[in-house]
Amino acid sequence: MNPSRYGPDVATGVWVYLEHEDGELAGVSLELLAQGRELADEQGSPLTGFLLGNGVRGLADEAIAAGADIVLLAEHELLDPYTNDAHTLVATSMILEGRPDIMLLGATFNGRDLAGRLAVRLRTGLTADCTDLTLDPDTGLLLVGEVAGFGGGIVATIKCRENRPQMATVRPGVFAVAEGNGQHEGTVTEVQAEIAPEDIRTTVIERVTADVTDITQAPVIVAAGAGTRGDFALLQELADLLGGELGVTRVAVDNGWATSDRQIGQTGYVTHPKLAIVAGISGALQFTVGIDQADTVVAIDLDPEAPIFEAADFGVVGDLFEVLPPLVEELRAAGNGNGAME
Ligand SMILES: Cc1cc2nc3c(=O)[nH]c(=O)nc-3n(C[C@H](O)[C@H](O)[C@H](O)COP(=O)(O)OP(=O)(O)OC[C@H]3O[C@@H](n4cnc5c(N)ncnc54)[C@H](O)[C@@H]3O)c2cc1C
Repeated sequence: MNPSRYGPDVATGVWVYLEHEDGELAGVSLELLAQGRELADEQGSPLTGFLLGNGVRGLADEAIAAGADIVLLAEHELLDPYTNDAHTLVATSMILEGRPDIMLLGATFNGRDLAGRLAVRLRTGLTADCTDLTLDPDTGLLLVGEVAGFGGGIVATIKCRENRPQMATVRPGVFAVAEGNGQHEGTVTEVQAEIAPEDIRTTVIERVTADVTDITQAPVIVAAGAGTRGDFALLQELADLLGGELGVTRVAVDNGWATSDRQIGQTGYVTHPKLAIVAGISGALQFTVGIDQADTVVAIDLDPEAPIFEAADFGVVGDLFEVLPPLVEELRAAGNGNGAME
């Protein structure tokens, strides 16, 4: 690989790309600020958020409260809405000026779109879709990105030894938002965005927002697999009664029974519920990585040998359509219709 535009000798600090939509910071950016804070503290370096947009000054304060020491703020009417050309151009000059050591972005549509192009511009390595980020214990400096490789069969750890910045993308839900009083203090530095209309080759003609569900923060997940044969009525009612969300396996999405925003797992979302009820799901590793941060997992499956029982705290061998109705009936009778988990 070609040497990057700058090397480890001049690189310093941890940077987080602050993604936002409709005037709100993306949840994944807050999650990355929490993880970035830990990495920066371990390195003894500052945590910087870089924020590109128009009329987004308020979000800089929010990022500081969430842990950033510095927010680099570039505001320009051509930075809103997001386009790859505009954000790449401005972010590249910010990065070459500030020379971060580590740079984290959400593995969202825009985060992935931007990360790939920045990595090429900066001639550095990008570890995509990390499921964990730590610092190499030997050096205390090198970023170690953990990713599921070869179809999820192995967990690979990836380091970028020579080139900088060390870039990684992380899916929403992998890290938790920091709990705290939001009293962290920092500074906002305004950056001049050098950009002209002719730099942007795409025109946003229309924005269509889909009705998507965020399953990553649900307190209860009721997960449906192929064993439901696409009949989710019972599991949806159970999720509603428990104040949770319905999640599904990839098979359910591939069969068109559910939309991909509800998919749990390696190519779906990582969830952090207090309780996950998992029904008609065999327990492939690509699925279980999305529920292994649940406090309690209850599995129901016909097959006593199903691997899901190894990932579960409690298991019921049986037909989900016979096991679950009495539970739903109990919850209905107990008046759980208000959606609160007792
Ligand atoms: C690169 C890659 C990425 C992937 N990413 C993901 C991912 O993000 N998420 C994901 O989920 N999968 C993913 N997969 C697919 C994964 O490997 C499995 O194929 C999938 O998780 C299986 O889904 P399932 O458990 O619903 O179906 P199956 O494996 O078919 O299991 C169905 C289960 O239902 C049980 N059952 C049947 N009828 C009943 C009944 N009436 N009551 C109770 N139990 C019943 C059966 O005993 C069986 O255990 C990925 C695969 C690859 C190669």
